[in-house]
Amino acid sequence: MAEIEPMRNVTSERRRRRNEAARNRSVHFAGVVLVILLCGIHPAFGAADVTQDDYGQPRIQVRQKGGRWIVRGRKNRVEVNSSDLQMNVHAGDSTWPTVASFAGDLVVETSGKRRSLRLADAAERTIAPYETGFKTGVKIALAGFSHEGEQIDARVDLFVCLEGRDEEMVCELIAHEDKARVLECSWPAAPAPEAFDTTVVPFMQGMLLPKDWPRKVWLYDTMCYGRGLYMPWWGHQKGGSALLVLIETPEDAGCRFEHPAGGPTRMQLRWVHSLGQMRYPRRVRYCFFDKGNYVTMAKRYRRHVRETGHFVSLQEKIARNPLVGKLLGSPVVHTNILAHIQPESHYYHKDDPAKNHQLTTFDERARQLRRLAEKGIDRAYVHLDGWGFRGYDNLHPDVLPPGPEAGGFEGMKRLAETCDQLGYVFAIHDQYRDYYLDAKSYDPRHTILDRSGNRPIHGIWYGGKQSILCSRLALGHVKKNYSSLLSHGIKVRGAYLDVFAVVPPDECYNPEHPATRADCLKYRGMCLDFIRSTGGVVSSEEPADWAVPHLDLVHHGPFALEPNPGRGPAMGIPVPLFNLVYHDALLLPWSLGKGSWGIPQDDLGYLHGLANAGLPYLSLSPGAAHLEQVRTMCALHERVGLAEMTNHEFLDASFRKQRTTFADGTTVTIDLDAETFVVAPPLPPRGSNRTMKYTTRSLHEARVWQRNVRARLFAALKMSDLLESKDAIALAPKTLSSAEKEGYRVEELEISSTPGRRIRVIVTVPTAQEKPWPAVVCIGGHGSDLYSPYDVETVGKEEQRARRDSIYRGFGTALARRGCVTISTTVSQHEVSEEGRLLMGERLWDVMRCVDTVESLPGVDRTRIGCAGLSLGGEMAMWLGAMDERIAATVSAGFLTTMDHMEQNHCMCWKFPGLRELVDFADIYALTAPRPLQCQNGLREPQSQFYVPLARQAMEEIRTIYRDMDRPENVTLDVHDEGHVIDLPALLYFLDKHLHSSLTSGG
Ligand SMILES: [Zn+2]
Ligand SMILES: [Zn+2]
Repeated sequence: MAEIEPMRNVTSERRRRRNEAARNRSVHFAGVVLVILLCGIHPAFGAADVTQDDYGQPRIQVRQKGGRWIVRGRKNRVEVNSSDLQMNVHAGDSTWPTVASFAGDLVVETSGKRRSLRLADAAERTIAPYETGFKTGVKIALAGFSHEGEQIDARVDLFVCLEGRDEEMVCELIAHEDKARVLECSWPAAPAPEAFDTTVVPFMQGMLLPKDWPRKVWLYDTMCYGRGLYMPWWGHQKGGSALLVLIETPEDAGCRFEHPAGGPTRMQLRWVHSLGQMRYPRRVRYCFFDKGNYVTMAKRYRRHVRETGHFVSLQEKIARNPLVGKLLGSPVVHTNILAHIQPESHYYHKDDPAKNHQLTTFDERARQLRRLAEKGIDRAYVHLDGWGFRGYDNLHPDVLPPGPEAGGFEGMKRLAETCDQLGYVFAIHDQYRDYYLDAKSYDPRHTILDRSGNRPIHGIWYGGKQSILCSRLALGHVKKNYSSLLSHGIKVRGAYLDVFAVVPPDECYNPEHPATRADCLKYRGMCLDFIRSTGGVVSSEEPADWAVPHLDLVHHGPFALEPNPGRGPAMGIPVPLFNLVYHDALLLPWSLGKGSWGIPQDDLGYLHGLANAGLPYLSLSPGAAHLEQVRTMCALHERVGLAEMTNHEFLDASFRKQRTTFADGTTVTIDLDAETFVVAPPLPPRGSNRTMKYTTRSLHEARVWQRNVRARLFAALKMSDLLESKDAIALAPKTLSSAEKEGYRVEELEISSTPGRRIRVIVTVPTAQEKPWPAVVCIGGHGSDLYSPYDVETVGKEEQRARRDSIYRGFGTALARRGCVTISTTVSQHEVSEEGRLLMGERLWDVMRCVDTVESLPGVDRTRIGCAGLSLGGEMAMWLGAMDERIAATVSAGFLTTMDHMEQNHCMCWKFPGLRELVDFADIYALTAPRPLQCQNGLREPQSQFYVPLARQAMEEIRTIYRDMDRPENVTLDVHDEGHVIDLPALLYFLDKHLHSSLTSGG
C-alpha cells in the first residue's frame, strides 16, 4: 500500500504548480502549511489575483487525517476511509454513512475466468487530491488485485468530488482493462441501514418503502429502464432529510436490491460491462437535501433531464405533431381483430381449439366505433391489436397483408377512414423485437446472440417459437411495413411499437451486427422517430425514461404489485414519482376498475387515474357510470394535461388519503378507502353533452342536421319571434353624416334593429366601381365599436384609439377601396337592451340587420354578401355565417377553439343557457357548409387564448361536413405568424376569391 502526500490545501496546490520550477518539494510543502496557518481557509493572494469566488470554483479543502481522506466544502463534508473505502457524508445536519467495500464489489474476467474480488483488497492504492476547476475531491487509484494467489492485471480509478454550489457528490469510476476485463463493479457502496428510514424507488410509477416494511419486496428488474427502474435514480429519506442517487451514465447500470420481510432494505448501485468490458467512465451523482423527500428528489431529477435536453414537453410534442394535441382530454380505446394462438404457444388451448382463433372483422369494429360516437364520445385514441396476417403477436416482423378473413387491406382502410370521420386517432400495435421463426424473412443470422454465442428461443406468446431480432435490423422492417400500409391508402395515424419501452436494452454479440445497450436504445429510438416522420402518434408500452423524448403516449405506467402487475397488493407505498418528473411530457392512460392491471387490489384505478391526471381507458360498450368517469378524467386532463405535477402529499398516516397539485394550482384529493375525490377548483359543470354534434353523414342528412340545429339555436338565442316578424320591421334609415373618400363614400346611419331599438352603422359605398357590388359585414371584438374595422382614412380617430384598433389592420377600409360595400356596427356591449332577449341574440340580430341594410342598397349583389371579424368579431362572423344563409363567405379570425377551452381564461359572454347541451363551436361553424369559410389563428396566440393546436383540432371537426357536402376546398384554416390580429392578405385573398370582387389589384 502506498499512501502518499501530507496534509495539503488544494487551492494552494494550484498556486504551487503555477510557480513550480525545479524546487525542493518538502521545503515547499512547509511553505504551504505556513500559508494555511496564517490565513485559515483564505489564502492571501496579491491584489490583482482572482479569488475562487470570483471565478466560481467551489471552495473545497482536501486533506488526509489518519486513515481518512476528508473533502470539506462549506456545507458538505465527505470522509473516505483509505483502508475499507467506507464513506461518511455530512450534509447539513444529516450524516449519510455507507457500508464498507465488500466481497464481490468488483468482478473481473481474466484468461476467460470470472473472478470475484473486493475493491478494498487492492494491494496498491494511491489516493491524491483531484480537482477540475468545477469540482474538487480525491482520486483513488486501485491496483495489485489478486485471487487465490494469482495476480490480476486490472486497475480501477475511483473519483469522489464535491461539485457546484449545492456541493453534490459526484463519483466516477474508470477501469483500465489491458489484460483483465472488468465485468461488474458495485461502487460507491450502499448507505448503511442506520443511515435512512425509507427508500424511494421509481419501481414502475413509484414506490416508497419504509425500511421495516413487513413483507418481502423485490424489483421485477434491476437494470435501468426496466420496470424496477423506469428512471435511473433512487433515494433515501431519513426524518425530514433526503439523499438522491442519480445515475448519469445509466445504459449499463442498475442495482442489487434486497428487502426481506421486516427489512432492512439494501439498494446497491451496480455497474455492468458493455460487450464484455467496462469500456467507458461511469458516473453517479449524490444530491443531499436538508429538508426534502421523494418530491424533492423527483424535482431534482426533472432539473437534470431539463439540463441535459432529455426532457421534451407535450407542448413541444404537439408542435412537432399537432395530432398529439388532439389527444389532450381524449379517452383511449383498446381493441383487436384476430387472436390466433399457435400450438407451440404457452397460451394454446388444447381442450377447446375454438378458443385459439377468435376473429372480429374490421367492419364490425368500425360499426362499434360509430356506436361509441353516438354516445357522445367525440374524440378518442383507438389502438388496434391483431390486424396482421395471422393476428396478434404472430409472424413479426412480416405481418402484412392485414388479416384476409378480417377484410384485408380494404377492410383496414375502411376502419381507418371511419376513425378519421369520427375524429378518432387510428393507431396500430406493432412489434420489431420478437422474431418469429415462421416469419417470411426469418433467418437465424439476424437474431441477437448472447455473450456465450447462444440464441434466445422461446414459445411463450401467441405466435409460437420466436427469437429476438437484433435492434440494428429493426428500422428497415418498420420502414418496409409502414410504406406498404400508407401506399395502400390506410390512414395510420399512430403506432405502438411493442416491448421497446419496458424491456431493458438488449446487447448483441453477433459479429455481423454487434450492438451495445446504448446502440440498442439508439436503434429503437430511430424506429419510434420514423413513426413520427410519417405523421403518426408514437407509443410503446411503459414509460422507460430513455424513450420519453421519442414517445407521445404509453399504454401503462401504474404501480408494482405482488407478485406481478396483473393483480395483488402494492409492493411498498405507491407514489407518482414518474409523473412528478414527466406528467407534462407524456400521455399516460389509466385503467379505471378496482384492482385493474397495475392498480393495488383494494384500490379504484379511477382514483389513481384522477390523482395522476391521466387519460382514461374507455371500453367499446361503456355503461353510464363508466362514461361519467371517462368524461371526468378527460375534463381534468384537458385542464392540466400540459401542466407539471408540482406536488404529491399524504394527508394522514394511513397513506390512503393523498393530494396532487398541478402547476396551474389545480389540486386533486383522493381517499382510497372512502372512494371519494375532490378536484379544486371544480371541473366546469358539464353542459357539454353536445347532443347535436355533427358526425359524418349523407349530403341530405347533413342539410337536415343544419336545419334542425339552426332552429334549436335560434330558439336558445331567443330570436325565433324576431325571425318570424322580420319582414315587417322597417329599417327606417337616417343619415347622420356622409363624406367622400377616394373611390368610395362613407356614411354613418341609424337604423331600426327591432321595433323598439335603433342602432348606428357605418356604410361605405363604392364610387369608382361599377355596379353590382359585393358587400361585407365588418365586425370588431371586445372593446371595439362600429369604427374599429376602419382606418383613420375612413373614420377619424384619436391616436390612442387608432393604436388599439391596429389589430384589425383596417380591413374595412381595405375592402372599401377594393370596391366592396362595407357595413359595421357595434357588438361589444355586455348589457341586454330589451327584455326577454339574450346578449348573444341581440348581437347576432344586429349583424343580421346589417345584412338587411346592404341588401336594401341598390347596386349590391345579394349573392355576394360576406362577413369578417376578429376575436368577438370573429365569433359574431361565425354566428352570422352559420345562422344567416345569405352570407356567401365568412372570415372568422382569432376565435376558432373549443368551448371547454373558452370556459377558462376568457370573458364568458359567449355562453348562454342551452348552448353547450347542443353544440361546440365546430358544430356552429359546420352550419356554414358548404359556403366558403376561412378561420384565422395566429401562432403567437398563447395557450390560454386562441391556441393554434386547439384550432387545428376544431378545424378537423369542421372539415367533416365540408367533405360530406363535397366541398372540402371551401374551408381553410389560415395559420399565420402573428398573434391576435387580422391576417389582412389572407382575408383579402379569400374574399376576392369567393365574392368575385373584381378589384384584386386594387388597394
Ligand atoms: Zn446484433
Ligand atoms: Zn365579453
